[in-house]
Amino acid sequence: MTQMASPIDCAGCTACCLLTPSPRLYPEHDDLGLYDVVITDAGPRIAPDGTGKCPHVTATGCGIHDRKPWSCRQFDCRTYYERKTEGMSRPERRRFEKNDRFSPIWAAAKARIRDAHAGGSGVTTGGG
Ligand code: SF4
Ligand code: SF4
Repeated sequence: MTQMASPIDCAGCTACCLLTPSPRLYPEHDDLGLYDVVITDAGPRIAPDGTGKCPHVTATGCGIHDRKPWSCRQFDCRTYYERKTEGMSRPERRRFEKNDRFSPIWAAAKARIRDAHAGGSGVTTGGG
């Protein structure tokens, strides 16, 4: 598995924000006072919009970039993609990328892996 040297440059992408439930909050890392919080069986989350998604997604990326939760800052779709496809043959990988429900995330990851291999240097953290 490739370790990505640079932080991911989301550059306005919101694929993972739109395909996953509103983010979990971790009191040891996040100041819960900064968010509209809902407590679930799994712990606190940002209170979702009517579709269960994060309400802070905008057309140009994360609307709270300077205070996005810890879990969003940790997420790097490139390493997630590489973990999920490790050991797959090329045809298996293609099928997976095309048919998986997270296909937009894999497309975003692949574009950024190509950029990293080409020497690109992302400057922002994950999740929008
Ligand atoms: S990165 Fe921003 S928009 Fe995306 S899930 Fe996290 S808080 Fe919401
Ligand atoms: S982590 Fe990847 S999928 Fe998520 S917003 Fe950034 S580039 Fe897109």
